[in-house]
Amino acid sequence: MSQSSSSMTGRIALVTGSAQGLGFDIARRLGQDGFEVVICDLVQADCDRAAAQLAKDGVTAHGFAADVSDESAVTALMSWIDGRWGRLDAVVNNAGILGLIEGRKPGIDELSLALWTQTLSVNLTGPFLVVRAAVPLMRRNSWGRIINISSRAARMRTGIGNANYAASKAGLIGFSRVIAGELGPDGITVNCIAPSRIETSMTQAFAESPQLLEQIVRDAPVGRIGTPQDIAAAASYLCSDGASFVTGVVLDVNGGSYMA
Ligand code: NAD
Repeated sequence: MSQSSSSMTGRIALVTGSAQGLGFDIARRLGQDGFEVVICDLVQADCDRAAAQLAKDGVTAHGFAADVSDESAVTALMSWIDGRWGRLDAVVNNAGILGLIEGRKPGIDELSLALWTQTLSVNLTGPFLVVRAAVPLMRRNSWGRIINISSRAARMRTGIGNANYAASKAGLIGFSRVIAGELGPDGITVNCIAPSRIETSMTQAFAESPQLLEQIVRDAPVGRIGTPQDIAAAASYLCSDGASFVTGVVLDVNGGSYMA
């Protein structure tokens, strides 16, 4: 899965929601592959801190704060990228929220329209806005990689509640399939990664019993919980030149806990 860094030299990758968690590790991995990386998250200081941390690992990274669900913020982000490099080669739509109520997955009876809308705005409208703004830059070089971070929650029933989250992540799969068809002729591939539970601040947001964690390990044939590096390795492959014939797929990175 790894590739020579030289093949990506000069190429720019944008990773949303990358000040921490999976996005941060994806940014680091793409940076190690040779991409120059744009760290995008809600707070500029967090973006700058993450970029500085990556610099210590030898990765060239730049922070730009934007709320991906805000059309004007996404326009400003793309204008900045266009002005600075005049190109954009890879986008990883990773920013996302779980849409919990006080740390719990909401059942249908307590799911407010406001929470439903907020979850869809960040997890589904955000990627739409980012992709729509990124495509003209990618078309310039007839090469592009778009990766949308979906979830195993869109592939199977993963417990009670949080329909807002599952719906947003399932919508992302349908969205990706259609634009994969549209953008293939432009040399742009579009794929989803559907991780199972990975240890990040997102999963720390709700209390999980030791029994549940043991069950998660038992349910995965590989016998462990996934790491951010597992997801970063998948993103690295899908962003590589070698993955040019792979588009419209959902890559399940879940230790075998769900097999399509
Ligand atoms: P995280 O909460 O650790 O990180 C998410 C980042 O996104 C945060 O830095 C947050 O500030 C940022 N963000 C949130 N809303 C944003 C917005 N509107 N605009 C820009 N940035 C925003 O979460 P994570 O666990 O690293 O998850 C990353 C992605 O992976 C999410 O899309 C999540 O749904 C998906 N995912 C995670 C897991 C898991 O177990 N951790 C499993 C499956 C899918």
